[in-house]
Amino acid sequence: MTAGPLVAPGLPVPPGSGWPEDPATPTTPVATDAAQVRTLAAGAVQAGGLGELMARQSVCRACTRLVEWREQVAAVKRASSRTQQYWGRPIPGWGDDDARMLILGLAPAAHGGNRTGRIFTGDRSGDVLFASLYRCGLAVQPTSTAAGDGQRLIRASMVAAVRCAPPVNKPSVTERDTCAPWLEAEFALIAHSVRVIVCLGGFAWQAAWPMLRSAGFTVPRPRPKFGHGAEVTLAASAGTGAQVAAAGAGGQVAGAGPGGPVLVLGCYHPSQQNTFTGRVTPAMLDEVFGRASRLAA
Ligand code: SF4
Repeated sequence: MTAGPLVAPGLPVPPGSGWPEDPATPTTPVATDAAQVRTLAAGAVQAGGLGELMARQSVCRACTRLVEWREQVAAVKRASSRTQQYWGRPIPGWGDDDARMLILGLAPAAHGGNRTGRIFTGDRSGDVLFASLYRCGLAVQPTSTAAGDGQRLIRASMVAAVRCAPPVNKPSVTERDTCAPWLEAEFALIAHSVRVIVCLGGFAWQAAWPMLRSAGFTVPRPRPKFGHGAEVTLAASAGTGAQVAAAGAGGQVAGAGPGGPVLVLGCYHPSQQNTFTGRVTPAMLDEVFGRASRLAA
């Protein structure tokens, strides 16, 4: 693992203390409840910066249960990582600012993203996922093991619907809704370039629709059903596009707005259980990401 800063064992990494790819500083504002998440997310979008948004995401403390869990995991650790410093903070979005593809996951793994500070990094799901992204020309390396390891996405971005590792990988509905403004704000800032969204699993699929609506897309009713290979094309609502930047209200997040139609693609989550049982295979992932890559280009 790439060396992190020296901090007291068991404490999360202090913002701006030298951890690779840490977007925050000691003065980054911290949200401590759902209302503050909304305010700080909207403020970061209006200031126009993905960097500031990521920084604010990465220090959030709005969900009491998840904050306690992520910090407890970071303190106790697992036996094979006992000598490592854990990140122990929310995992911000990560990738290319001009992404044409957004990969949407559920939440960071307790000993994966919560340990390394980067989404899908340092766990088995990420191993399978990054190998496929590399084969499909979407990542510069076949592995993603630690922040600062040189891995980079190519015209793609990754984000989790919920940014803190939840117990048994199950965030509550309230936690999902509390975290949603971070997701909506992030998408508002990249929607102008995104052409394809790959949802890894049913939770991500459900989280995509409010995100898309808030960015100015027309979302079908009833909501489309999730499945591996499911596809839905969405058009921008009339009166959105560049005008979303001026609206910024009525359920829409201020931002550049859609740059054109977007295709939403369903893909089984490459969880350890799904890959062990063969529910999802490397070939199935390659098929989805290969198609997504061609369409996004
Ligand atoms: S899950 Fe989201 S809203 Fe809740 S504490 Fe983590 S970053 Fe904040």
